[in-house]
Amino acid sequence: ACGGGRDGGSSAGASASSGSSAGGAGFAADATIGISLPWLGTQNWKEAQDMFKEQLEKAGFKAIVQAADNKVPQQQSQIETMIQQGAKVIVVGPIDGKQLGTVLTKAHDAGVKVLGYDRLIENTAAIDGVVQFGSLRTGELQGQALLDGLKAVKGEGPYNIELFGGGPADPNAPNFFTGAMSVLQPKIDDKTVVVVSGQTKFTQCATPDWDNGKAQSRMDSLLSGNYSGKKIDGVLSPNDGIARAILTSCKQAGQTQPVVTGLDAENESVALVARGTQYCTVYKPTDKLVAKTVELIQAFQKGESPTTEDKANNGKVDVSLFQLDPVVVTKDNAKEAFANDPARLKLLG
Ligand code: BGC
Repeated sequence: ACGGGRDGGSSAGASASSGSSAGGAGFAADATIGISLPWLGTQNWKEAQDMFKEQLEKAGFKAIVQAADNKVPQQQSQIETMIQQGAKVIVVGPIDGKQLGTVLTKAHDAGVKVLGYDRLIENTAAIDGVVQFGSLRTGELQGQALLDGLKAVKGEGPYNIELFGGGPADPNAPNFFTGAMSVLQPKIDDKTVVVVSGQTKFTQCATPDWDNGKAQSRMDSLLSGNYSGKKIDGVLSPNDGIARAILTSCKQAGQTQPVVTGLDAENESVALVARGTQYCTVYKPTDKLVAKTVELIQAFQKGESPTTEDKANNGKVDVSLFQLDPVVVTKDNAKEAFANDPARLKLLG
C-alpha cells in the first residue's frame, strides 16, 4: 500500500538538485503552465492556488490553475483540458496517486513536462520529478513531537494514545504514518505508550478523503468504545483539520485536553498552538514549495532536465524528489518559526 514513495528521511536537504542534462528544445518564455490541485479543503492548497498564479505570472508565464474538489474524473478532465490548451508543463497534486497514468501519458506524448506537487504520482513513467516536503520526515517529526509533548505536558508515562492517518488515496498519508510509527513503535513495544483501542495499522487509522468529519466520528467511537473511566493522553493527527476535529471530540466527551499533533500551520491551528490547545503543528511553507516548482519550470523552459540523487520508486520508475525540510512548531518556538511569515506571526497575538 505504501507504493514506493520512500524519501530521504532526515537527510533531506533543501537544495537537492544534483544533476541536469540537456533535455531538448525548451519552450517559449511566456508559455502556458497548468496547475492541477486536488481540492481546496486545507489551507495549503488554497495558498498554492494563489501563489502559483502570482509567482508564475511574475516569471512571465501564463497560468491555468484549477482545483478538483477531491473528484478523480474531474482532475483527469482538467488535466486533459490543460493539454488541449497547450500547457508546456503540468504540475499535479494528485487526489489519487494511482489514477492519472493514462492522462499523464497523453501529456508526455504531447511533449508536456509533468511534475508532482506536494504528493507523489504513482504507477506511471510520465513524470519528471516531485517537489515536496519529505513525507517520511514529516511523519517522523509528528511521532517525535507527540512523544515530546506527552512528556512535557503529561509527565511520566505510560500514556494512553490513539493514532490517525490521512486519506488512503494520497501517497503522502501512508508515508506520514510510517514515519510516525518508526518513532512510536519502540515506545509501544516497551509499553511507555499504549494504543488503547489496539488500532495501529494504517488501514485502521486512515481518514477517508482527509475528511475532518469522518475523523471526528472515528474519535467519538474510539472514546465511547474504549475510554469509559480512562483518560486519553495523546493523539497522533496527520494534519491540522483532523487535529481540531479530534480536540472537539475529546472536549465533547468530557476528556481533559490530550496532546495532539498536526500539519500545515493553518491559521485556526496556529492560534490554538499559540495557546497550547493543539500541542504542535508542522510548518511547510507553501511559498517556498511553489518557488521551488517555478524554478524547475524555468529550467524546463531553457531545455534543461534537472534530476536529484534523492529518488522514490513510484511503482514504475525512480522519480527525482526535490525536497524541502518541514519544521515542528509548538508554542515555544512559534515566534521564531514564523519569523518570515507576517500573516502567521500576527496570529500568535
Ligand atoms: C498534504 C497536507 C494536507 C493533506 C490534505 C497532504 O497531501 O501534504 O498538507 O493537509 O494533503 O489536504
